[in-house]
Amino acid sequence: MIRFEDVAKQYQDDTFAVKSLNLEVKKGEFFVLIGPSGSGKTTTLKMINRLIPLTDGTIYIADKRISDYDINELRWNIGYVLQQIALFPHMTIEENIAVVPELIKWDKERIKNRVTELLDMVGLDPSIYRKRKPKELSGGEQQRIGVIRALAADPEIILMDEPFSALDPITREKLQDDILALQRKINKTIVFVTHDMKEALKLGDRICVMKNGKMEQVGTPEELLDQPANDFILNFVGEGKKLHNERVKLEKIAKPYGDDIKIENLADSIPETATIKSILERLATEEQLPVEKNGEIIGVINREILIQYLSDQLNERGQAHE
Ligand code: ADP
Repeated sequence: MIRFEDVAKQYQDDTFAVKSLNLEVKKGEFFVLIGPSGSGKTTTLKMINRLIPLTDGTIYIADKRISDYDINELRWNIGYVLQQIALFPHMTIEENIAVVPELIKWDKERIKNRVTELLDMVGLDPSIYRKRKPKELSGGEQQRIGVIRALAADPEIILMDEPFSALDPITREKLQDDILALQRKINKTIVFVTHDMKEALKLGDRICVMKNGKMEQVGTPEELLDQPANDFILNFVGEGKKLHNERVKLEKIAKPYGDDIKIENLADSIPETATIKSILERLATEEQLPVEKNGEIIGVINREILIQYLSDQLNERGQAHE
């Protein structure tokens, strides 16, 4: 869907913000760019919608060079969410959401219905919220509007630059859950910038770790935790890696073994107390695993449950990269 071929961005003072970047974001993928401050994440993101021009290489969207798109067509087909969303203060929420649909001349009825649909989608009652002004909303609610405004004209691609980092931890987690649920429903291609590993592990289908304008490693959350390419990744994944060799009491997190789950073979199970590493290795090839305690299956565990557990652990320890 989005392909970078030998892409570089060099500023006039000779700084390379991004160096020979090659990567491909697949259609429908939740792709996270992570790295320390100054590693080139925002530059990478902004080159996609031509907010920053590249100095070398090519970016393709749907196999067409971004330079061959009409700039307006390109921007309207790519939603963009920023950390500090700039809602227009004098416009109502409805007018704010309607900006791009109006630009591309949707009729009034269609826009109205779309606003209703989007507000419903993020749990904000349209009859209450559509006529409000941005300052009558909490920070978390405003950020939710920022997200649905980016979705308004139904773009294929959504770029998100640290969209939740200015929010308190509880609101932030809620919005992370929302965006995951939303992604499952609408199946857009999302490129998401963060410097928070917890967030990356929770949200990403794949994570690209950047350092000094270069891609250090790209892989699924399991791959980064399990096979860090070098010491930088190892440190960056930090707490996650330490967690790796710890044992989990699976009884506490496993889904109860109910009628809906059919498991024939006890030999395929994983013991109730297992290291995270061993669970990850099994989940790399299997969708779910039966959990065994005293010769009986007591439940099942899958990737989603494990990643949520890892994310909760990192949160509790509060030592991940903030
Ligand atoms: P990140 O998003 O990972 O924090 P950026 O993409 O914003 O990183 O920046 C990457 C590098 O490019 C940094 O070293 C930054 O100082 C540099 N940079 C960004 N914008 C400019 C600019 N307009 N002129 C010169 N250097 C810049």
